Amino acid sequence: MNIENINLKKKFGKNIIFDENLSRYSWFNLGGPAKILFKPQSVEELADFLKLLNNSQKIICLGAGSNTLIRDGGFSGVVIKLSSKFSYIKSLKENILEVGAGTLDKTLSSYAAENSIANLEFLSCIPGSIGGAIRMNSGCYGDEISNILISIKAIDFKGKVTEFDRKDIQFFYRGTNLPENIIILSAKLQANVGDKNLIKEKIKKFSQEKKETQPSKIKTCGSTFKNPKDKKAWELIKNSNCNLVSFGKARISNKHSNFFVNEGGATSEDIEKLINFVRQKVFEKYNIKLDLELKIIGETLRNG
Ligand SMILES: Cc1cc2nc3c(=O)[nH]c(=O)nc-3n(C[C@H](O)[C@H](O)[C@H](O)COP(=O)(O)OP(=O)(O)OC[C@H]3O[C@@H](n4cnc5c(N)ncnc54)[C@H](O)[C@@H]3O)c2cc1C
Repeated sequence: MNIENINLKKKFGKNIIFDENLSRYSWFNLGGPAKILFKPQSVEELADFLKLLNNSQKIICLGAGSNTLIRDGGFSGVVIKLSSKFSYIKSLKENILEVGAGTLDKTLSSYAAENSIANLEFLSCIPGSIGGAIRMNSGCYGDEISNILISIKAIDFKGKVTEFDRKDIQFFYRGTNLPENIIILSAKLQANVGDKNLIKEKIKKFSQEKKETQPSKIKTCGSTFKNPKDKKAWELIKNSNCNLVSFGKARISNKHSNFFVNEGGATSEDIEKLINFVRQKVFEKYNIKLDLELKIIGETLRNG
């Protein structure tokens, strides 16, 4: 261990891990090690860490890893994974919730249902964290997180905390113009009073629809590509005769052609080969270049 790492270990103890395998931090269950994995226990500790790091390393933040493919060579920088201390829900006023960025969308949706808060039902279908949902502007069934957002609190890579108002952030389909060099810490969300039974019914209906149209209990990161304007990516993929193709143990789900699956024993390289193959086939057939919804991070084994 070099002197910088010894000092980091001394200061941050068990919250810092070197060469931690990242596969268990992604829904694909794939990926090599992070040079440094840091699990801050508080905003103050995260600020201290970032100030000490002083931008000397590449940094990324991982949420629940339900939208991220980590390459086989791992990430040769710092991965920040917010600890459970960032998972909380506070009712600030009758109509405003403050939610820690590490809170799972499903946890928030259940809390809202129990407390008769409407319009958060769609979050019950998304297996990510609130930080990830904001970064991705995640949504389904006609709703997305930007519709209920009031503001966010974030820390930049130099350790400075800033609050962003919803009106100052642009959100679009599966993305935002928030700077890349920030870690979302918490969000204030709109809480509208609703009828508990209706809310629970809506959640049940969404869950049923998801079960019918999407695979479950598999290693996937959900939709691989964004839907092009007025088109469905899954339909384009299906009609381009890609469905039966596999690379190693990476294949396309039988139930949803835009869900790519690690059948067990795939590599991230297999998934990327499948991505490139499908993109090429759809381009040949439709002259449409599919954009990734998935985030890919890290280095390939050959380059790494
Ligand atoms: C079975 C399945 C179904 C899905 N269904 C849907 C769906 O219906 N609708 C939908 O929109 N998505 C869906 N997804 C995709 C995924 O769940 C969402 O994109 C989710 O919001 C990602 O959250 P995460 O915490 O897992 O993010 P991660 O995958 O960990 O990260 C995604 C991006 O967000 C960034 N990020 C994460 N946390 C923070 C933070 N605190 N601060 C700053 N940046 C951060 C990461 O750096 C990365 O760029 C599905 C995925 C699966 C596996």
